[in-house]
This record gives sequence, structure tokens and C-alpha cells, in this order.
Amino acid sequence: MHPPGISGNIMAVHLHPLPDELLTSWIVRLAQASGLKLQPYCDVTFGRERSIWTRDFDKSVRDDFLDEFSQLTGVSFDRVLGTTLRSYEGILYEHHNPHGNSKWILPLGVYHRTRRHAGLQYCPLCLAEDQIPYFRRKWRLAFYTVCDRHGMLMHERCAQCAAPVAFFRRELGDRHKFEIDSLTLCHVCGADLSRAEARDPSVGDVQPLIQLQSLASFFELGWIFCGSASFQYAHLFMDVLHRICNLLISLRGKSLLDLAACKMGFPPVEAVGNHQGFEYLPLRERHLLMMVGLWLLLDWPERFIHTCHDAHITSSRILADWSAPYWFASVLNELLGCGEYSPTAREASNAAMHLSHKHKEVTARSVGRLLGYRDAKAAECYRKPQCPPMTDEGAAEILATLDSKIQSMLQGSRKRLLLERDRTILLFLHNTKIPRERIRVITINEALRLTAEMGQDSLSNALSYYLFEVRPYFTRGEDNGKLFLATSGRAMCAEAFRLRFNLILAGNK
Ligand SMILES: [Zn+2]
Ligand SMILES: [Zn+2]
Repeated sequence: MHPPGISGNIMAVHLHPLPDELLTSWIVRLAQASGLKLQPYCDVTFGRERSIWTRDFDKSVRDDFLDEFSQLTGVSFDRVLGTTLRSYEGILYEHHNPHGNSKWILPLGVYHRTRRHAGLQYCPLCLAEDQIPYFRRKWRLAFYTVCDRHGMLMHERCAQCAAPVAFFRRELGDRHKFEIDSLTLCHVCGADLSRAEARDPSVGDVQPLIQLQSLASFFELGWIFCGSASFQYAHLFMDVLHRICNLLISLRGKSLLDLAACKMGFPPVEAVGNHQGFEYLPLRERHLLMMVGLWLLLDWPERFIHTCHDAHITSSRILADWSAPYWFASVLNELLGCGEYSPTAREASNAAMHLSHKHKEVTARSVGRLLGYRDAKAAECYRKPQCPPMTDEGAAEILATLDSKIQSMLQGSRKRLLLERDRTILLFLHNTKIPRERIRVITINEALRLTAEMGQDSLSNALSYYLFEVRPYFTRGEDNGKLFLATSGRAMCAEAFRLRFNLILAGNK
């Protein structure tokens, strides 16, 4: 077993982690405070067989270490766990992968004690302002390209010699050198990271930048706001954003990237064909892709659908081999066409150029395979939404009219139940932005998933009320599971649905 901490069970030095501090940063500060160099400190405290600096410890640390460390430091297990990257489980992704690549986590490329990738970013202004400079957990995140405190672009390498950040290396270094260094000094050239230049992150349209800053500030709450939509389960939004970023750097998504960049007013991003994924890109490219990804999702779903349509991107291209969150997939399937994707001549020539750059054979088959579709045929079945979207004021007005009508009717009467059903339909149409035709046939299970994903209390409450108090009056015989039923107990037919809807709208005039 491991020797106990340096003063029995509790360490002589009591240093608690600073806000959002990374586990490894905390360990280095503990070593400094104990007066020992880092390696002897770790040998004595954790045992020689524990390798901390030759792997991505903040990502792969196991529970037994955390448990022991919690006892040694007198800091609760949960707080200790909160210094690791695993604590992003359920927020940024569903399951943490301690040994492989994880969505949104920057890879360090650990090789012995060196770091081959720039996997730890920093904000020079944060480091300069810190009374005790330290490294934050969120600085390991690929989407965190702008400091949420200072609004400046992050750095990912030493500004002087371009070495990746490895703040522990100076402490590991010379065993005979005992003076304590600041964590902010570059381990290669000694330049002070806290004095690196503060860089302005703005590029083109300012809206996605505001969106990125709010994402960087609030993602840990588990809530995300995107334009007028909100998501109670942040990872369902982050999942889609991640997919879009990776689509944008693939050959399949090049036309979308070019078109969006052009509309946003900045030059084309040269990140295409990076098969390792978003997390492996340099900071500036990640930043531009985040801007484009967030810009596409603003005004959901109109902007996304229109831009994809103009860039000839079909839903099958975005949704292939991916179990997409319902809020996203349902809208794409409805509005972006589900026909098979046919590569355009331009994409085919991009793919051919890519192959020839890589000295690979260029044939119809190899080009097709690169684009990911074997027998693609042109089938564009995009169609515009059938009616202009209702404004918030318009919807509120109609709902108010409906409510006062409902109140004036006898509870449980057929007329009142019909209106209560229509009110629920209207709420779903307006709040989810899912097209009418789709809402008409939505099932109870789909509706429950959808409301859970959207996280709007008003919609969930309305759904529960409808399910328990209204819908039972419409069921006849075997339940077909559809959310909205006609008085016959069957799903509402398109004509009846259209009529009821027009009646509601007319009643408001
Ligand atoms: Zn900062
Ligand atoms: Zn340097």
C-alpha cells in the first residue's frame, strides 16, 4: 500500500483547491508549500509507483486516488472530484472516457513527461490577476477559446517559444535547485505566461461571440440558452454543436463552412480535411469554427435550415451514423429533406484534390468513398415551412383568447376538452417550432422526450395536464400512442387538424 501522507493521515500543509483549479495544479502548489521538489513530494505522499506526470492525470485519475487524496487533504471527495475533468460528465458529454479521446477535452499528447499537443490553454490576464497563479479546469476545454472573465482570446502555447504549457516541469526539473518558481513561467524558455499579449477575439458578426461568452460562463449550470431556445440538459446542445464543428471541418461540410463564413464576413477557414477532429485543431481555427457553429444555431431552426439548403447539405449528411438528439433530428428530418445526399461537382473536385495531395489514386469510387456515399442520387425534398412562424406576442394573444374561452365553459364538457387539446397543440407548435404536419402525428413518447430536452416548465406542465386531464377523454379502445387524438380516438386527420388550426387563428381576429 502507499505510505501515508507526510504527517500521518492529514498533510502538514492545508491548501484547498482554488476556484475551478485543476487537480495537477493543486498538487504542484501543495508540493511547493511543503518545501519539497515535486517528484520527491509525490514519491513520499502517493508512493513511487504512482505515475502522475507521465499521463493525463486530470482526465484519467481513478477513484481510489481521489478517495485517498480527499482523506490526506481533508477536502471532501466531491470537491476533489470537482478538480478533475471527469466532473464534466453529464454536462458536456454523457459518458467520460478516461483513457481515450473525450468530446471537447483537449488532448495533451503525453509522451513521458513531455506534452506533444497544446492541451492546456491559459488567459494571461487571469494569471496576472491571480494572487496565487493557478491553472483552471475549463482551460482544458476545446470550445473555451475566449476567457469568460476578460473576454479575450485564450493562448495555448508560450507566446515566446511556442512550447505547450507544462507548468509542473520546472518543479520536476533540477533536484538540486530549491527556490520555488512561479507556475506561470514557461518550462522551456522561462518567459512569463502571465505577460503574454491580450488578444481581441472578434471576427465578423458579433452575435456568436456573445453566445460563446455566455456558453463559457454558464455551461456548468447544465442550462444552455441559444437565441430564444433553452436547453435543460446542456449535453444535448453540446452534442449537436460538436457534430456541427466536425461537419464543418470535413470535406462533406466544406460548402456549409464556406457559405457561413462568407455570410458572417470573414475569410474561409482552412481547417478542412482534419480527420482527427475538432479537439486537435489550433486555437484560432477552433475559435472560428465555434463562431460559425453558434452562428448557424442562432435563430434556430430558420438560419440553420436555410444555410444548409443553400449549401446543398441534406439531413442525411448531417445525421448519418449518429443518434442525434430529438430536438435537432426531428426538425432536420422535417425541413431539410431526408432524401439521399448527392455530392455536388464542387465537392467531388475538392475530394479529388485532397486525394491527389495525399498521393492516392483518384477514381470515381475513391472520391465517392471519401465523401462517404456509395450510391448517392440527387433527391432534394426540401420544402419551406407552410406558414410564417408565429411571433411570441401573436402566440400569447391567441393563448389568452383560448384561455378565457376555456374558463367560460363547463369543466369536462366536450367543447372545453376540444379547446384544451387545441391549446396544447398551439403551445407545442409555437414553443418547439416543429412543423404542423409533424406535430399532428407526434407520439406521447416523442413529446415527453422533446419537452425534457427543451426544459421549459410551461410546456412540461401543459403536457402533464393534457395527458392526465384531457387526452383520456379522447381515447377509444386500443391506445395508438399518438399525442393528439380526434374524438374518434384516432390520430387527427390532416384536414381536421388544418381546420381546427384555422379556427383557432380566426377566433383571435
Ligand atoms: Zn481571463
Ligand atoms: Zn517558452
